[in-house]
Amino acid sequence: YIPYYLPCPEILSQYPQPKLLEQRPTELLTLTPWLAPIVSEGTFDPELLRLIYQPLNLTVGLTVFAVGKYLGFVQHFLESAEQFFMQGYRVSYYVFTDAPAAVPRVPLGPGRVLRVLPVQSHARWEEVSMRRMEAISRHIAQRAHREVDYLFCVDVDMVFRNPWGPETLGDLVAAIHPGYYAAPRREFPYERRHVSTAFVADGEGDFYYGGAVFGGRVDRVYEFARGCHMAILADKANGVMAAWQEESHLNRRFISHKPTKVLSPEYIWDDRKPRPPDLKLIRFSTLDKNTQWLRS
Ligand code: UDP
Ligand code: MN
Repeated sequence: YIPYYLPCPEILSQYPQPKLLEQRPTELLTLTPWLAPIVSEGTFDPELLRLIYQPLNLTVGLTVFAVGKYLGFVQHFLESAEQFFMQGYRVSYYVFTDAPAAVPRVPLGPGRVLRVLPVQSHARWEEVSMRRMEAISRHIAQRAHREVDYLFCVDVDMVFRNPWGPETLGDLVAAIHPGYYAAPRREFPYERRHVSTAFVADGEGDFYYGGAVFGGRVDRVYEFARGCHMAILADKANGVMAAWQEESHLNRRFISHKPTKVLSPEYIWDDRKPRPPDLKLIRFSTLDKNTQWLRS
């Protein structure tokens, strides 16, 4: 049960006052035109959020897929998550893999559990990646809806480098792709063929979101992942694969089902890119990986 108001105990009066007329806390946009917060360093008070959220005793789930060679990322991923992901909260890791026995048993902090879930392997990496929407929605319906309040679904070829905390919690959460945050939307790599259900017309689109991070309240994540899966199935029936697989479908769906919270690229960076001065820190980032080997 997630209260829809934030209970604020009396002790919370001692923190810097928010000032309506004061300078912007960051150079980045802090609010979308549909009034969803855009979260980046400087826009929130971590200590205040901790005092508000910790008493709620929330459980946050984190899904990753480690099929085939991607199993090699799990150890580093989990170790970094233990250090930085939702420190001080109850966390359930869900590792989907075709080799359950080979998942490394990383020591976990109190209140944190690891659940290993068997999934089928597929010959094509695109298929493995796209099938995540199906597996996630099924898993939520069967089990995770009882086990977690919020769920994030992320790529495994990434590591946490700085705190990821309750500032990220929201009904439906998207993250701005590090490759396109400065690009005009006509240059976004949306699916542009009408034949795909992921089609996006010129003049549509807000931000280009990364497929490697999405989340929210577990019921909203269910609806979202299931919607993407249905669109992927419809394309498949027509022999179509969208330009960037499930990322194209995720972007299509976020245009008509707007995220209620947007994470800045701090939350989905890429080690292969230098950190621009606009970003004060990097919290979660794709490793510089050998893509050719992984996909062969
Ligand atoms: N994945 C996997 N095995 C595969 C292909 C993909 O486990 O053979 C999972 C893994 O979690 C990976 C995610 O799907 O992080 C997305 O694939 P990838 O990271 O290669 O896509 P990219 O981020 O390069 O677009
Ligand atoms: Mn990836």
